[in-house]
Amino acid sequence: MNQEIEIVIVGGGISGLAAAYYLEQSAREQGLAIHTTVVEKEAQLGGKIATRRQDGFVFEGGPESFVTRKPEAWELCHALGLAHRLVGTTSSGKNYVLRNGRPAIVPSGPGSFLSTPLLSPKGKLRLLKEPFVKPRTEPSDESLGSFLRRRLGDEMVDNIVKPAIGSVYLGDVDQMSVQVSFGRFAAMEQAHGSVVKGMLALMKEKSAARKASGEPRPAKKPSFATLRGGLIELVHTLAEAIDGAILQDTAVTALDHNPTQTRPYSLMLSNGRMLRADVVVLATPTFVMADLLAGVVETAVIDQLCAIPYNPVTTVNVAFNRRDIANPFDGFGVVVPDTEPSPLLAVEGMSAKFPHRAPQDQFVLRAFVGGQNQPKLAGLPDDELISLVRHELARIFDITAAPTQVHIQRWLPANPQPPIGHLALIGQIERTLAQQLPQLYLTGAGLRGQGIPDCIRQSRDVVAQIMADLQPATALA
Ligand SMILES: Cc1cc2nc3c(=O)[nH]c(=O)nc-3n(C[C@H](O)[C@H](O)[C@H](O)COP(=O)(O)OP(=O)(O)OC[C@H]3O[C@@H](n4cnc5c(N)ncnc54)[C@H](O)[C@@H]3O)c2cc1C
Repeated sequence: MNQEIEIVIVGGGISGLAAAYYLEQSAREQGLAIHTTVVEKEAQLGGKIATRRQDGFVFEGGPESFVTRKPEAWELCHALGLAHRLVGTTSSGKNYVLRNGRPAIVPSGPGSFLSTPLLSPKGKLRLLKEPFVKPRTEPSDESLGSFLRRRLGDEMVDNIVKPAIGSVYLGDVDQMSVQVSFGRFAAMEQAHGSVVKGMLALMKEKSAARKASGEPRPAKKPSFATLRGGLIELVHTLAEAIDGAILQDTAVTALDHNPTQTRPYSLMLSNGRMLRADVVVLATPTFVMADLLAGVVETAVIDQLCAIPYNPVTTVNVAFNRRDIANPFDGFGVVVPDTEPSPLLAVEGMSAKFPHRAPQDQFVLRAFVGGQNQPKLAGLPDDELISLVRHELARIFDITAAPTQVHIQRWLPANPQPPIGHLALIGQIERTLAQQLPQLYLTGAGLRGQGIPDCIRQSRDVVAQIMADLQPATALA
């Protein structure tokens, strides 16, 4: 009888749990006997996904929804039987950017771009030139800022795109790799000479394919979705769907590789136990991968993993009685450009975006503090943080009422900031690992995209790679 293949996944965030889930699913489909163990350092699963439900509120300390244009999270929720728990955003969501201390609406359609006060007539003209701007000839990586400045002009970047993206990715668009999160647009420039032309071509292609297949137009998905009880529902349902072991409150403290052993990997745990594995998946932040791999792979890989920067951020959910607020903010969010003297990165309209998150007589805003430019603010003590946020909410929205609830979540560090050339570097790291540590794989937000759908996609890809690598070995056994 063949022995089960023992697979250890380090990290019980969305990437690690999705990896375990898809591993078990693929193994069942392929008739492969595997056993998975997920090891999670914290007492609770989910990593950055951190929902707190209290007094009728659903507070999100990390991600609060996922984009559906990238289908992986939407599909996973459906596969897990969570379709009835999904809640989508209404299409009428308004986004704002802070301008002279007040929220100014961000244009969402061609007409509103022409009338927005956020762009001067020169900035608007420059935007209209996009289809005629010559494409860059080299396909190599560049910063997202440089890509957008070439295509759309400085004003559009500085006044609208930079604060919006900066508040989502918590970094500087002029330092972030375009290929990691906006590779689709860079590819459109390469293929069609312009992003606008590329988007038009894509729409045409999709409609032609639909007509040819005779299928009716699919039901329109909301742009963003979340789960009724918070994103932690995805984490808990995913964990329940995994047959293997899940060890919580247990860190992997060291990893060793001995190719002469039947199970070549040994992982030391914080509880003193040791796990042996045929296959290891590291689904932690990249600096943790570096710690675990130190001494078992060449130092260049460790240096490369350590060099991926992460910024700290703290989220502060603040609830108010609706009756205490004259004009509750109706937008999904306000982003803060560098030019505004505010200690905040952004404020999100948590209950405006998803009303089920608060009792009807309550209203929740969530402030982001920290990021690349003001990292120290993310570490302020609670009382200072609350008074800073209240001061800003009074200045921006005229809200002076006392909050009914406050929920603070610190991420020190939070999100990775993939620099220019990041994807090539990750490819290089993976090639070295494949040579020096066969059957050890990496997945997670620090590699090829940090949104929840990106993390799920990467774990699916890693599972496909593991299955392909395992098949020849099991065929011979
Ligand atoms: C404030 C904030 C808001 C965000 N908003 C959104 C959003 O709205 N939509 C969206 O799509 N994305 C959002 N993101 C990004 C997204 O949440 C993350 O990129 C994603 O959840 C990361 O998942 P992961 O599993 O790769 O990593 P993590 O969630 O970081 O999980 C890694 C896990 O590894 C564990 N670990 C670390 N070291 C060890 C060890 N030695 N042994 C065992 N376990 C270990 C950690 O405890 C952790 O649980 C947001 C992120 C933040 C911080």
